[in-house]
Amino acid sequence: IWKELEESYRKILTVPSFNAWIDQATPISLVNNQLTIEVPSSLHKEYWEKNLSTKIVETGFKLTGEEITPVFVIQNNEPIMEDKPKEETTILPEQAMKNGKKAYLNPKYTFDTFVIGKGNQMAHAAALVVAEDPGATYNPLFFYGGVGLGKTHLMHAIGHQMLMNNPEAKVKYVSSESFANDFINSIKNGTSEQFRQDYRNVDLLLVDDIQFFAEKEGTQEEFFHTFNTLYNEGRQIVLTSDRLPNEIPKLQERLVSRFAWGLSVDITPPDLETRIAILRKKADAERLEIPEDTLSYIAGQIDSNIRELEGALVRVQAFATMNSEDITTSLAADSLKSLRPISPKNQLSILAIQEKVCEYYHIDLKDLKGKRRVKSIVLPRQIAMYLSRELTDNSLPKIGAEFGGKDHTTVIHSHEKIQQLLETDISLQKEVKDIKDLLTN
Ligand code: ADP
Ligand code: MG
Repeated sequence: IWKELEESYRKILTVPSFNAWIDQATPISLVNNQLTIEVPSSLHKEYWEKNLSTKIVETGFKLTGEEITPVFVIQNNEPIMEDKPKEETTILPEQAMKNGKKAYLNPKYTFDTFVIGKGNQMAHAAALVVAEDPGATYNPLFFYGGVGLGKTHLMHAIGHQMLMNNPEAKVKYVSSESFANDFINSIKNGTSEQFRQDYRNVDLLLVDDIQFFAEKEGTQEEFFHTFNTLYNEGRQIVLTSDRLPNEIPKLQERLVSRFAWGLSVDITPPDLETRIAILRKKADAERLEIPEDTLSYIAGQIDSNIRELEGALVRVQAFATMNSEDITTSLAADSLKSLRPISPKNQLSILAIQEKVCEYYHIDLKDLKGKRRVKSIVLPRQIAMYLSRELTDNSLPKIGAEFGGKDHTTVIHSHEKIQQLLETDISLQKEVKDIKDLLTN
C-alpha cells in the first residue's frame, strides 16, 4: 500500500514537496486497518493530516476494500539519513530562472540543492508550505539561527519555487541593509513613491538578516508600513535573523509582535550525518571523486557552519589539483591542517612569542630582552629569536630591535645556532615544538 501511495503522491506533488513530505515519512505498521506513519515533526504531522491523508483513505480503499485510518506519530530525535542521494534535479524553467535573477535570487539556492536533516527539517517543511501556498499559512515565516546554517538558502528556495509554480509572481529579495539603504536613498532623491511601489507591489518579500534593523528607527517605521500593506493584501513575507525578534536589541515592539503572528522556526547546526550528506551532494554536483571515509573525515573536522564545510571541500579540492593527487583522507588531513592557524606568519607578534618563551622557561621578559649571558637566559633568548624568524614576517633588524636593540647579525647567529642544535638535540626539539603548539593553539 505504501508503494502505491508513494506513486500516487509522486504524481500529484512537485519534487521538493515529495522529498519533504513523503520521503521524510516512514510507514510503521498496518494493524486493524490502522496505518501508522512516522513523521519527523509536528509540522509534518499537521501537514499530513490536513493535506495528504485523504489520499491514504482513497488508495487504501481501492487496494483493500477496507477503510484505512492513518495515524501519525512524531519520530523521536533519531537523525534522518537519506538512504541514497537524490538524483533528480529539476532544472528551473528558463523564465523562472530569469525572474529569479531579477529578484536577486542565487540560482544555486533551491530546494533541490538543500539537504534535509536534523536541525533544518522543520524550517525546510515550513518553507515548502509557504512556497506552495504563499500568503495562506504562515505569514510571516521567520527563520532564525546561527551563521552559515542555510537561512538565506531556504529563503531563496522559497522564491525559486514560487516562480516555478507561477513565473509571473513578483518576488523580491533584499538584505535588511539594502532595504535601509534603498529607503534612505529614496528620501534623499525624492523617490519615496517609487520605493513604495517597489516594495509594496510584490507577492513575496524576502528580507534577510533583520537583526540589522536594530537601532534604525526610520527604517523600522517604513518597514512597519511595508509589512502592513503586504500582510493585509495576503502577500507572503519571509524574514531571517540570527536570533528571535524579541532578542533583537532596539527592535520596535510593534514589529516584534507582528513577526510573531506567523511561524518562527529555528535552524540548528547539522549533525554529522547531515554534514556528510551535504558534502556528498556538493561533491556529486562538482563531479568530484571522494571516498566515503574522506567525506566523513571532513565532516568530522568542521561541525557548526555549513559555509565553512563547503569551504573545506573547496580547499581539499584545490589542494588535490595543485598536487595532482587523488582526494584521500590523508590528503584531506594535510590540506585542512593548514586551515587552523590560517597564517601564523601574519597573526603572531614577536611579543607574543617572547611572552610564551618566558612563560615556558620561567624567566622575565626583561631578562629575555636584556644582555645577561647566563645559559638559562641565553638559550630561551635564542629560541625566541629563532621562532620570531620562523613564525613571523618581520625583518631581521626589526626582530633585533624588539630584543632590546640587538644587531641583525645576532638574530642570524641565534637562528643558525638553534637550527643546528635542533638537528640532534631531542629534548630541545620537544621544547621548541611545545612552544610552537602553545603559540598556534
Ligand atoms: P545563513 O544565511 O544561515 O548564514 P546560508 O544560507 O548562506 O546560511 O548557507 C551557507 C552555505 O551553506 C550556502 O552556500 C548554502 O548553500 C549552504 N547550505 C546551508 N544549508 C544547506 C543544506 N541544508 N544543504 C545544502 N547546502 C546548504
Ligand atoms: Mg544569510
